[in-house]
Amino acid sequence: MIVTLVAPRIIRIGGGAVAEVAAVLAALGVTRPFVVTDPFMVSSGLVERLLAPLRAAGITPVVFSDTVPDPTDVVVLAALAALRGADADGLIGFGGGSPMDTAKAVNILAAAPDGTPIAAFKAPAVADRGALPLICVPTTAGTGSEVTRFTVITDAARDEKMLIAGMGALPMAAVVDHELTMGLPARITADTGIDSLTHALEAFVSRRANAFSDDYARAAMRLIAPNLRRVFHHPADAAAREAMMAGATLAGLAFSNASVALVHGMSRPIGAHFHVPHGLSNAMLLPAVTAFGLDAGQARYADAARAMGIASGRDDDAAAGQMLLAELRALNEELRVPSPAAYGIPADRWAALLPVMAAQALASGSPANNPAVPDAAQIEALYRQAYGN
Ligand code: NAD
Repeated sequence: MIVTLVAPRIIRIGGGAVAEVAAVLAALGVTRPFVVTDPFMVSSGLVERLLAPLRAAGITPVVFSDTVPDPTDVVVLAALAALRGADADGLIGFGGGSPMDTAKAVNILAAAPDGTPIAAFKAPAVADRGALPLICVPTTAGTGSEVTRFTVITDAARDEKMLIAGMGALPMAAVVDHELTMGLPARITADTGIDSLTHALEAFVSRRANAFSDDYARAAMRLIAPNLRRVFHHPADAAAREAMMAGATLAGLAFSNASVALVHGMSRPIGAHFHVPHGLSNAMLLPAVTAFGLDAGQARYADAARAMGIASGRDDDAAAGQMLLAELRALNEELRVPSPAAYGIPADRWAALLPVMAAQALASGSPANNPAVPDAAQIEALYRQAYGN
């Protein structure tokens, strides 16, 4: 089997790394970066952790700080207009997945003919070009977007989260500094941490997994599984934050080279229609979708349980798979993940949208990577099962 691996040209990772972005820019020949971030990064002062060392190095970037959670095509166009007026020679995405994904989409459109909508690059189309060197600096642990060849942009008019894939979405460099996550509130810590765990698990059971993505995924699960509860309950635990950040980046490398599967395919429509944070919608689905795939992917799920440290070599695959399922349910309970019903999604709207959500999940292509590949009726049944009381 021939495997193609992709990753950023530079990954600079470790406590304090954000102070070294100037060196990374220099290595890429960038002197006039354009920063894409969100309003909270500015109001909280977090963006100064990036900007102050840049200013000290003689670089004063233009900053666009109007990105929104689950970025829309409308926001991407606003950021593109700002970039065009900025005379920039590089891009920095600073924040959670939303600002990083916005920066990626802007870079793809900046390389396309004027007036091209971002929807033109929706998978299965390929976004293979970005205009400028892009550096991503995550502040959540996290989406892994800093190392992936994906961006997820919502079509605001159609309420559809579009998956956009290709080298145009792959950052040239990632600067990964867990110290930026020390102030993450518990809810966002839990949601983004489960997102990382889902990335690693889905990459590992994906039909497109390979020996290399497996190593990334195992390493990610080993770091994330023992530290997720820890950062939720003890936010100031720097070692746990560091492990989660490294785990998130490794999980990003895993799924960028193996793809995600059914959880992500079903999760995006929930985010688009009901504005549930991405990691939370993943968490809502993870136990039901894992139960659905367990028979077909038993050996892989069992190995994942062993990598997570919740089963050992003495447990046979069937037992290890059940231990994984029990752990995912327990994790949701401990991290206070609500069901869609408890989150406040009305039962009638959920039921009415099931056919649309199932069609959108299938169209994204992700369900085809699952150990058990569902049809639309099975996806609807899984949505019904996950809805809760
Ligand atoms: P986010 O970027 O939407 O941020 C969520 C909230 O957390 C925001 O209010 C933000 O201001 C706040 N926040 C971020 N960092 C913080 C910090 N250090 N301290 C305090 N608050 C902080 O959330 P996210 O989960 O990181 O990203 C979700 C987005 O990423 C979704 O749109 C999802 O579809 C996308 N995603 C992309 C990929 C990819 O490969 N491109 C992978 C997974 C998810």
